[in-house]
Amino acid sequence: MDYIVKKLNKIKESGLYRELKYIETAQSPRVKINGKNFILLGSNNYLGLCNDKRLKKAAIDAINKYGVGSGGSRLTTGSYDIHKQLEEKIAAFKNTEASIVFNTGYMTNVGIISSICNKDWVIFSDKLNHASIVDGCLLSRAKLIRYKHCDMNDLSYKVNKFKGINNLIVTDGVFSMDGDIAPLEDIVKIARRQNIMTMVDDAHAAGVLGENGSGTASYFNVDGKIDIMMGTLSKSAASEGGYAAGKRNLIDYLKNSARSFIYSTSISPSAIAVSIKALEIIENDTVRRLQLLDLSNWLKIKLKTMGFDIPNTKTPIIPIIVGAEDKTVEFSKRLLQECIYIPAIRPPSVPKGTSRLRISLMATHSKEDLNEVLIKLESIGKELNIIGGYHA
Ligand SMILES: *Cc1c(COP(=O)(O)O)cnc(C)c1O
Repeated sequence: MDYIVKKLNKIKESGLYRELKYIETAQSPRVKINGKNFILLGSNNYLGLCNDKRLKKAAIDAINKYGVGSGGSRLTTGSYDIHKQLEEKIAAFKNTEASIVFNTGYMTNVGIISSICNKDWVIFSDKLNHASIVDGCLLSRAKLIRYKHCDMNDLSYKVNKFKGINNLIVTDGVFSMDGDIAPLEDIVKIARRQNIMTMVDDAHAAGVLGENGSGTASYFNVDGKIDIMMGTLSKSAASEGGYAAGKRNLIDYLKNSARSFIYSTSISPSAIAVSIKALEIIENDTVRRLQLLDLSNWLKIKLKTMGFDIPNTKTPIIPIIVGAEDKTVEFSKRLLQECIYIPAIRPPSVPKGTSRLRISLMATHSKEDLNEVLIKLESIGKELNIIGGYHA
């Protein structure tokens, strides 16, 4: 135990100790924590569907029909007709032949990469890719080459230098902590020229970008040119789970070899039913998506005008870069005192010295609430010398 205590103290001393906050209401623009009301600006519930009546009804109907637990893993007794229905729906949504659903997005990335790649593979991975991609790469024992964030010169250079017999380029579609979009057209070009397999993680893009919200491949018009389209049901779709979509042979292979698919009890029928209904809403409710993008753009411009350091984001993820860890935490704490909840993101989630508040919007946020937030951000930003003000 001495070892653990030492490690724990080290985390505390470096200001990186994290505590959980327990929300007492549904995930929506306003939530209750410890009996107090907060404006929430950090959710991945982009379309505001977590508390949607239609989805709640889908869950309740499924519980009435199928009960609660799924009772088995997918290859034993845990596959239901609605699992099949969802996988067909995802394939249509992503414009592919087939799809496979995993229990979480994390398990999806780990399962895909570790079952396809082994020590004879070389994986080219964007430096800012999600941790679950990195873990999948490590588990596969492939040679991992990380290229500079969205830097196609660096990718080309590294592909030429390190390419092996079997190769994979993997990238987030939208980067979770920065909100920027991977240059898929260029990635596809490089991959095709060199006969390299491609994989895109669209956890933050599905439901947000592209035609009918189908993601970054559609946004860039490279549908059908990405070998493995990964996505999650836990963000815009307000449910849980992850998926891979692609050619039927690929999906059949994953069903027979991905260990995180095989050795885990399948998702409960209620969550599956929610995912099916959510995809239906995403495909048909264009207004909701456009509202979200408009609102995000409006807020981003306001924040930039105030003098905050906002990277070039075209999504509902709007990071306010602060830099130092302690100042970022202080900023977030001061906002909490004003009943505004924006999570502080620190290493190891982001590189050292780039700590930030990560704002993410929901389509259901009101401009009244956001205006209130802007006033507080400006005054606290000045108070902490993050933007020019009294002490500038
Ligand atoms: C959230 C996320 C995941 C993991 O998905 P979960 O369903 O939360 O496990 C994977 N990749 C990216 C880019 C993510 O943002």
